[in-house]
Amino acid sequence: NVVSKSEKKALEEAAKRLKLQAEEKERLLPTLRVKSRRDYLQKRKDDKLIELEGDIRDDEYLFSEDTLTEREKKDREYKKKVLELAKQHDRARDMEKVQRYRMPEERKGQEMDFQYEETDEKERMPNSEQRKWEEDQMSFAQLRFGAKDAAKKKKTKEYEIILDDQIEFIQDHAMPGNQKEKEERLTETQKKKISIEETKKSLPIFPFKQDLINAVREHQVLIIEGETGSGKTTQIPQYLKHAGFTDDNMKIGCTQPRRVAAMSVAARVAEELGVKLGNEVGYSIRFEDCTSERTQIKYMTDGMLLREFLGEPDLQSYSVMIIDEAHERTLHTDVLFGLIKDIARFRKNLKLLISSATLDAQKFSEFFDDAPIFRIPGRRYPVDIYYTKAPEADYIDACVVTILQIHVTQPLGDILVFLTGQEEIEVCNEILTDRCRRLGSQIRELVILPIYSNLPSDMQAKIFEPTPPGARKVVLATNIAETSLTIDNIIYVIDPGFCKENSYNARTGMESLIVTPISKASANQRAGRAGRVAAGKCFRLYTAWAYKHELEDTQRPEIQRVNLGNVVLLLKSLGINDLINFDFLDPPPHETLVLALEQLYALGALNHLGELTKLGRRMAEFPVDPMMGKMILASEKYKCSDEILSIAAMLSVNSSVFYRPKDKIIHADTARKNFFVPGGDHLTLLNIYKQWTQSGYSDQWCYENFIQKRSMKRARDVREQIEGLMQRVEIDIVSNDDTAQIRKAITAGYFYHTAKLSENGQYKTVKHHQQVMIHPNSSLFEDLCRWLIYHELVFTTKEYMRQTIEIESSWLLEVAPHYYKAKD
Ligand code: ADP
Ligand code: MG
Repeated sequence: NVVSKSEKKALEEAAKRLKLQAEEKERLLPTLRVKSRRDYLQKRKDDKLIELEGDIRDDEYLFSEDTLTEREKKDREYKKKVLELAKQHDRARDMEKVQRYRMPEERKGQEMDFQYEETDEKERMPNSEQRKWEEDQMSFAQLRFGAKDAAKKKKTKEYEIILDDQIEFIQDHAMPGNQKEKEERLTETQKKKISIEETKKSLPIFPFKQDLINAVREHQVLIIEGETGSGKTTQIPQYLKHAGFTDDNMKIGCTQPRRVAAMSVAARVAEELGVKLGNEVGYSIRFEDCTSERTQIKYMTDGMLLREFLGEPDLQSYSVMIIDEAHERTLHTDVLFGLIKDIARFRKNLKLLISSATLDAQKFSEFFDDAPIFRIPGRRYPVDIYYTKAPEADYIDACVVTILQIHVTQPLGDILVFLTGQEEIEVCNEILTDRCRRLGSQIRELVILPIYSNLPSDMQAKIFEPTPPGARKVVLATNIAETSLTIDNIIYVIDPGFCKENSYNARTGMESLIVTPISKASANQRAGRAGRVAAGKCFRLYTAWAYKHELEDTQRPEIQRVNLGNVVLLLKSLGINDLINFDFLDPPPHETLVLALEQLYALGALNHLGELTKLGRRMAEFPVDPMMGKMILASEKYKCSDEILSIAAMLSVNSSVFYRPKDKIIHADTARKNFFVPGGDHLTLLNIYKQWTQSGYSDQWCYENFIQKRSMKRARDVREQIEGLMQRVEIDIVSNDDTAQIRKAITAGYFYHTAKLSENGQYKTVKHHQQVMIHPNSSLFEDLCRWLIYHELVFTTKEYMRQTIEIESSWLLEVAPHYYKAKD
């Protein structure tokens, strides 16, 4: 029974592949499951209404009024009323929901039901008129049929038509706190504006100021662990500045995994210190540098610090570097760990702080040669946890319902809702705003505030403004509010249990952002947000069973599930050649590393020995994906750098260029189509940018053409940044009208993303023969091109190619000879 070596290897590989496939399927399941039960219910209801309407119409058509008996007339009248009522109910159904929904508070641990209350609640109903009519009908029916049961039956049947789905919550365990529940929740939350000084002193970290400074003086590396909101991010740099760590022109750096966090925290600290943002306190994020010569405290994204290594390999200008939110384990933070550990070994005067929420501290300590852990005791009030009784099909709808229930039935205190991204937040915001508007003065004021990374900063700042007295704030946030940003006065948390996660399939090289269930650790972090100022409540829109059996304990670190092309290029240009043995906290999968190397080789960034080429060195200068970097550099050869520059800038904002107001969808779509030019979407984007430039960067022009002016402004900023970098690598800005040249430059960067039309009229990717489709938004949607290049694949219901251009197959050989020659 001897298996040959190669056979064994093949078997192993097959097993691995199967496992990957199974994992992938599992990963996609939740996305598939979250589809509209709401639509289904609405449709069922609509059908019934239409049926009834038809009934009445037929009846009227067949029998004229004067042929009817008294009884039949009444019957017809009755049916009409029911129809009318159902329609009205439909309009007022949001209020129905609010009124009938009992919060768990009232019936802990029991099922909730949604029958009408017999009390004066009626009076608050917007449709008490209708109700009165119904009740009249009830007695009428009782008289008529002489039986209560029959009447009841009739009534239930009516409600079946008019009622929506409801959510049932069950209370489970409470998350214990270490503070006693406060009685005076209202006064606590309707906080008066207290001074910055007072706020600072009230933070859990404050009593430990001196201890912390001493610990930093004593140890080179320190792990800091503390509950979210204890003051780590905003206070520690200030304490260290106070202790003299910024003397002699030295800086304190602090990394954040997210752009929004870097900006908002820097703004806050500048305010606390009473300085102008960008002077003593600044931030640096990709394509935006808000620092100056005078900057002493610098917040930056972890990705930006990685890039700083290129210019300053030993971080000479920093006295302290804080790697914040380390528990998030983003790709860049993970890479920083390895690099900075190395630097700390030969720069003994560099202080290193690794700061994290209450997770993983032990692991960090071990990685940094048993560095001491400084624990900041948090302050937390108990949080009651509620689960839904059954899984919720449509969690956005469930969020809206729950928000309104809380708003109507629960004492004041703000609500924090976790959604997965900008789009979801906008949808939720829209539905909620609409329902509130319809409820009008029936409910207290509800201030709805979104927060996600693309939101303009003035809007972002709004979430920190105190809630007006008597009102309630509801913050619709992405994961950013889980640990990066602390919003005060949150009492209620709504957690649908999902987040967006990068996922990379090393086998197909396919990268996608998909909605996945969060981990238990995340769920508990989210719940914890409810207990910062008083005892809180967390509503999980999933079942207790799902929590126990479906959620992983912790999330996999990003380094194990993304494309590493960028990072490998950067590490190579930092002179780190042996990536397999790089000091990773958790190493990436071997095949992902190999694939990244292979891709960089194909792009010409590495030679066959795995060493960086001149091209690779130039590519590393650009803070963009290697493929885009290559495209930008190739524009030199094809003499179209000006056009490629605009295309690169537009691609970096592309998902949000068009604006599609609900009431003007047709206009917007026509406007979009008017920009179409032959050749494909990249050229369309270029066309938009050109026209906007010609309009003198006009806002009015954007408005008229249904273009988001914010995105265009951002594209302009990005363009300027890349232009600056092009000058650094000495590429002249040259303009060219020949679209073949432009498309060749794009192909030079993105030849990995080639798709070919097969005989059956379907597109298949050239590399993996995977079936893909052109996105319906694309200008090439109705064309049949033999060869295409796509910018990205998105997985929604199908695998779609977004942003495509038509190319000629001969170009592939021209732009990537060593890649394509080897194949055919
Ligand atoms: P940690 O990093 O430990 O989670 P932070 O330093 O981020 O804590 O937050 C400390 C306090 O500062 C919190 O109470 C938070 O609400 C407040 N804070 C942070 N950023 C802002 C801001 N932009 N505006 C107002 N308050 C803020
Ligand atoms: Mg923080």
